[in-house]
Amino acid sequence: MHEMSLCESIVQIIEDQARAQQFSKVRRVVLDIGALSSVDVGALRFCFDVVAAHGVAQGAALDIHTSPAQAWCMPCATRVDVTRRADPCPLCGNHQVVVEGGDAMRIKELEVD
Ligand SMILES: [Zn+2]
Repeated sequence: MHEMSLCESIVQIIEDQARAQQFSKVRRVVLDIGALSSVDVGALRFCFDVVAAHGVAQGAALDIHTSPAQAWCMPCATRVDVTRRADPCPLCGNHQVVVEGGDAMRIKELEVD
């Protein structure tokens, strides 16, 4: 279950930020997850509560946003958004698309006290 290690790194980043910026409580964490990251949002929320239980992120609300992935459509010669790896081009329906990224996760915003 890679959600647990993802949460460990999220909480680690938050703890580092807390030390660097001297805040002691996090109210809200906004996460941006690439549509192709295959992260289970339910599992992520559960793991976050477990990992954050004894730190500055304890009780923080977790906002999870999903960003579409970008792909290059060869017939259209243009960049399009896809939400799944096997998606056809939304413009022409062709499957000759090359997915670029979309599997990253990052902390978009931290609301702190
Ligand atoms: Zn196309």
